[in-house]
Amino acid sequence: MNARIIAIGSELLGPLRIDTNSLAITERLNAIGVSVVQKTVVGDDRKELAAVIADALGVVDLIVCTGGLGPTADDVTREAVAELLGVPLDLDPTLLEGIQKRFARRGLEMPEINKRQAMVPRGAVVLPNPIGTAAGLLLEHQGTRILLLPGPPAEMTQMLEGIIRDHLTPTPDGRLFRRILKITGRTESDVDSLVQPTYARWPERRVPIDTTILASLGQIELHLTARARDASDAEDAFDVAEREVRDLLGESVYSADGSPIEAVVGRLLADRGWTIALAESCTGGLTTSRLTDIPGSSRYVEMACVCYSNAAKVAWLGVPQALIDEHGAVSERVARAMALGVRRRAGTTVGVGITGIAGPGGGSPDKPVGTVAIAVLAGDAERVQTFRFIGPRDSVKSQSAQAAMNLLRLLLLN
Ligand code: ATP
Ligand code: MG
Repeated sequence: MNARIIAIGSELLGPLRIDTNSLAITERLNAIGVSVVQKTVVGDDRKELAAVIADALGVVDLIVCTGGLGPTADDVTREAVAELLGVPLDLDPTLLEGIQKRFARRGLEMPEINKRQAMVPRGAVVLPNPIGTAAGLLLEHQGTRILLLPGPPAEMTQMLEGIIRDHLTPTPDGRLFRRILKITGRTESDVDSLVQPTYARWPERRVPIDTTILASLGQIELHLTARARDASDAEDAFDVAEREVRDLLGESVYSADGSPIEAVVGRLLADRGWTIALAESCTGGLTTSRLTDIPGSSRYVEMACVCYSNAAKVAWLGVPQALIDEHGAVSERVARAMALGVRRRAGTTVGVGITGIAGPGGGSPDKPVGTVAIAVLAGDAERVQTFRFIGPRDSVKSQSAQAAMNLLRLLLLN
């Protein structure tokens, strides 16, 4: 069974509002085995909307529209659909009474314009809206079911739950399940060339798995989608697929349960009962901020300092001025001295030092913008590495924080 989603609202075509309803609708449809094959955003325009719906009629099993069911003149969904299907709009007295009562409960008389919300295209099933005035509508035409939902996200979600329960049965060929493998420390082309020959075979398995690769700077995600009868079938298939990926990519795979790297690192620290202190320069505290996004991080985060200037690195972390003079503030030696200094001050097991050139200025031929030195010291072990990141300032910062946490993760694993 497949579906198209149409999000209706002129505001969704502007720069200020984004269509989030279609994400929630997709999630719920996938859970009962319905694939979303196309999404459209269309303004509050009767002709445009009719054209988009006409295009999908007889093509997909289900069209889900959201928005444009309100009482005002710019809400045109029910009129557009009735006209397209060639059916009249009838006044539904029960619906009208319900809307009048909603107003009466607030001590108000129903404005005349709200009467429009009681108009129902002939043949449609009316779906009650427990928290708003706009009822939902379910119609069928040329073998395609058309579901009209209100736009306000809370009303839409609540109504969708009821419709899935009462009107849309799970498809017999199974539901859709998802597992996300998160990878860091490799490029997208590297990951794809290593893994593609393997995941190319997954769609032919008994429980078929489709794979999408999503890359951002510093992180790659493999999204695995399986169609299966029940969760345990899907989980078994995912376990096999995950093992194959881990065999190919080794420790680059840091999470398979959706956890961000700061949660993975936090778990490793907490398991050992270790504590951490960080000295951040170019990341300005971003690494610490991400580590402390994790509830319970107070068990292992002891302290952190942002030592941006050379003077601060010397005064607060005890980095020898001679080291900075000889090697430069952005160097592995200085990163290591920062990690040592902050660890000594805080009395922790782990110390991290991050120093780099976030740009856009400050680069030189041998240390271009994006050069970042990171040191992680844990017990007697240490990892010190220089990276060359690309991208604008904020991206260099986020890649640096990611790389620091990955170095820490690798050190804790081994
Ligand atoms: P009704 O709820 O009466 O059917 P409507 O959805 O067109 O009509 P609006 O007043 O246009 O009602 O929208 C109500 C709120 O819901 C607005 O804040 C709007 O931005 C939001 N909204 C509408 N559609 C979406 C969507 N697809 N994703 C996220 N928010 C949406
Ligand atoms: Mg609208």
